[in-house]
Amino acid sequence: MKFVRYTTDASPQWGVEHDSKLHPLSGLPDGPPDLSDLANPSYRAAVRRALQDGALPSRAADDVRRLAPVPQPGQIVCVGLNYHDHAEEQDEEVPDRPLLFAKSPSAVTNPDDPIVHPAATDEVDYEVELGIVIGRTARNVDAANAREYVAGYTIVNDVSARDAQFDDGQFFRGKSYDTFAPMGPALVTDDSVDPNTVDVELRVNGEVKQSSSTKEFIFDVDEVVEYISGITTLRPGDVISTGTPGGVGIFQDPPDLLEPGDTVEAEVEGIGVLENPVVAAEGDR
Ligand code: MG
Repeated sequence: MKFVRYTTDASPQWGVEHDSKLHPLSGLPDGPPDLSDLANPSYRAAVRRALQDGALPSRAADDVRRLAPVPQPGQIVCVGLNYHDHAEEQDEEVPDRPLLFAKSPSAVTNPDDPIVHPAATDEVDYEVELGIVIGRTARNVDAANAREYVAGYTIVNDVSARDAQFDDGQFFRGKSYDTFAPMGPALVTDDSVDPNTVDVELRVNGEVKQSSSTKEFIFDVDEVVEYISGITTLRPGDVISTGTPGGVGIFQDPPDLLEPGDTVEAEVEGIGVLENPVVAAEGDR
């Protein structure tokens, strides 16, 4: 199922998208969901039954403002170098374990909201990624059971200031400027998407820059949840961003980076298109 967090000028709410219609979930007997509900098979079954019975109200799916499924993650854990084609473009060896870094939860921004290009950097880059949203507290989880802890999958654009990232020798600043984590436009459960076999693509001003598949993962979703949950307890609302394929701007010759005025579309098959304009920072326009 495809869950959508959205607003129509009132409070944020959850709906389920089906056949181009959006069905608000506020009227369900169990009430609107939180992220643990979305990971709960009995809640999902209740939504599915209500959909089949025509028991939910409906509206057009395209006239709402979509929001990031998790506005304030407890943490955003990112995997670096997790696609074979991205390792190749950097002449990097395939790592023997997932390489992790943190991105500030405050960097989250909504679909269609701007990515603000900071004045402090000249090298703002894009990275389309499949995002895993945790729905159940996970500690020392086996890969074989990892899916039980996942509320669903979304799209993250792991926007990166390359000069900050490379100059600092660690990733936090370059990855964490405000608005550097666009997320959305939906949260899709694994009964309708296999996260380890979906196509991923990123376009800037309509031109394809990254095009791959999560079949290229070095460590798949299940292995990544196992590995991270063995290090840090994952809680509902934590987000794992699973790495990006080849084609990022900094490794083009010449580099092909984001500038104010650009429009970025990050697409993951079965989830949707996450679109954001790039704007200059206030005072820098
Ligand atoms: Mg990344």
